[in-house]
Amino acid sequence: MKQNQHILISACLLGNKVRYDGSDLLLEHPLIKHWAKQAKLISICPEVAGGMSTPRSPAEINKGDGNSVLKQKARVMNIKNQDVTQFFVEGANKALELAQQNNCVAAILTERSPSCGSHQVYDGSFSGKKIKGKGVTSALLEQHGIKVFNQNQLEELADYLSNMT
Ligand code: SF4
Repeated sequence: MKQNQHILISACLLGNKVRYDGSDLLLEHPLIKHWAKQAKLISICPEVAGGMSTPRSPAEINKGDGNSVLKQKARVMNIKNQDVTQFFVEGANKALELAQQNNCVAAILTERSPSCGSHQVYDGSFSGKKIKGKGVTSALLEQHGIKVFNQNQLEELADYLSNMT
């Protein structure tokens, strides 16, 4: 990775208590420590950046994934049946802006979140059922060429970075 290149990371993975229930998902891994020491990590919680408070009602994408939300073909609904799509789209735009300002070449985002999921999201029924798909922020980042890895793919990310020209 060149000196001016960075990695975007979900704020909850760095121990910030920004999840919907006020918890974090601190990720203790030597690669995270290594990248943090090199000042390579740029952190954001898209949902907080999009204007939501913590704690907040859990939300899921209804009938689709982040790409469908960005095409206005699906909505993000919270468990109280309130449409919170605008906050998720705003958060995704803020994350993209931050990533572009800091020349982020990849991202480490929390799997299954309706913002940060990169391979799976919940299906919108609040029953714990998962489907293949991306969160709104992951979808937007990947549409702009920023590859998203989840918290269990750090070695793959390290390989990806070392193979970059
Ligand atoms: S939106 Fe992303 S960064 Fe924020 S709490 Fe959810 S998973 Fe973590």
